[in-house]
Amino acid sequence: TYVVTDNCIACKYTDCVEVCPVDCFYEGENMLVIHPDECIDCGVCEPECPADAIRPDTEPDAEQWVEFNRKYSEQW
Ligand code: SF4
Repeated sequence: TYVVTDNCIACKYTDCVEVCPVDCFYEGENMLVIHPDECIDCGVCEPECPADAIRPDTEPDAEQWVEFNRKYSEQW
């Protein structure tokens, strides 16, 4: 899965939402999040993010972001 990280806070762009083929972006409190179970790992959104906030969960500190993204995407 891919995750949205803190660079997204207060970002007003929605380029990522528009390109996601499975619509797995959700609105968190002050940033967007990706539902980790719905993301199909296509990677299309990552280069579209103007804030460089979207990261693959293979990065070292990604685990906390996976849980954060899950928490806020399941609020709705
Ligand atoms: Fe959507 Fe693909 Fe990005 Fe996952 S990697 S959030 S499926 S665009």
